Amino acid sequence: MNKKRLAILGSTGSIGTQTLNVVRRHSDLLEVEALVAGSNADLLIEQALEFNPNMIVIADKSQYSKVNEAMKATDVKVFAGAESIGPVVEMDSVDLVMAAIVGFAGLQPTLRAVQAGKTVALANKETMVVAGDIVTAEARRHGVAILPVDSEHSAIFQTLQGESGMQADGLFINKIDKILLTASGGPLFGRSRDEIQSVTLDEVLKHPNWKMGRKVTIDSASLMNKGLEVIEAKWLFGVEADRIEVLVHPQSIVHSMVQFEDGSIKAQLGTPTMETPIQYALSYPRRIESHIPRFSFYDHPELTFFRPDTDTFRCLPLAYEAIGRGGNIPCVMNAANEVAVQRFIEGRIPFLAIADFVAEAMAKAPYIAKPTIDDLLESDKMTRQQYNN
Ligand code: NDP
Repeated sequence: MNKKRLAILGSTGSIGTQTLNVVRRHSDLLEVEALVAGSNADLLIEQALEFNPNMIVIADKSQYSKVNEAMKATDVKVFAGAESIGPVVEMDSVDLVMAAIVGFAGLQPTLRAVQAGKTVALANKETMVVAGDIVTAEARRHGVAILPVDSEHSAIFQTLQGESGMQADGLFINKIDKILLTASGGPLFGRSRDEIQSVTLDEVLKHPNWKMGRKVTIDSASLMNKGLEVIEAKWLFGVEADRIEVLVHPQSIVHSMVQFEDGSIKAQLGTPTMETPIQYALSYPRRIESHIPRFSFYDHPELTFFRPDTDTFRCLPLAYEAIGRGGNIPCVMNAANEVAVQRFIEGRIPFLAIADFVAEAMAKAPYIAKPTIDDLLESDKMTRQQYNN
């Protein structure tokens, strides 16, 4: 079997490095064609020396000479700047693009990959939040498969296998009654508004079950991550938001569930590690061997589920509001959240102000009902300009 050749966008991040772990273990099936990083030149150099890709891109141009110098004795081609990412994902030699850049910056390269007809393993949920209708329409137009990497969406995708197909009398699709999207609740689960009034960055970054990048860990604590995932699920699976229910499941063992119209519920379970959904997206439709420790029901006899506390964690209802209003509002919500999270990291606003910030931006933004990609780029820019000071 030919090896799958990967372009890994965000190779120096949490998803990127775990993707490379999977490649390392399955080098008979997978190889690295291109690596793209933001500004972590040292790690990009280390990865390039180990995996010997055809090309690498460092988005931060000030790091170009360092990376280029380190690659002098190799055949690896080095590029710099955001504008270099598009041509890399479009290369004929790339079979699959792992979209794992964090935030809005991931949208354009992911869209370029879809338009170039590449299979996309999608970790960058912000792409679907901002431009889900445009990206899914382009994927249909170019016959492109978008394979979810987010553990919840991978779980839903896995439970949907076999629920549609061809029969003698034509195509059948079993109707989804409801998606049950699980949430760990993050490090602040169970605490009241008063208790998290002055929560610190260190406390917010201590996620009980998942080791992730900073932005997604903070989003996880505020439940914005779950809000982004509701929107992502709507676009990936064509299910309206009022049929997507969030359940807090602190053990993170049931990764999500689908209820069908006959009332049956299918779930996907497993040890919480991102390497499982990453590997499934890379090997799909096959399952391949994994070293991940097996889950034992005897060691974890209690799997519990709770309603989310939407009075305390207001980012979740804000995301439902954003998708209900549609147009450019999810884009505005996403931009305001990225700005607010950065301000929280810098210690300029308290944790609970993230939701206030997002709510204000959504209320003030000029509404565009059917935004083009340029409108979305403008909405993102305007929102950031308004608050970035
Ligand atoms: P990290 O912050 O760990 O990594 C982000 C990656 O994006 C880094 O490689 C970074 O490069 C790169 N990057 C940032 N800005 C740019 C830019 N402008 N141009 C090019 N590259 C850039 O994030 P995660 O890996 O945690 O998350 C990545 C995406 O996956 C997010 O959208 C997140 O929501 C999603 N996701 C993550 C999960 C997880 O477990 N981590 C789970 C499910 C989804 P550098 O470090 O070199 O600056």
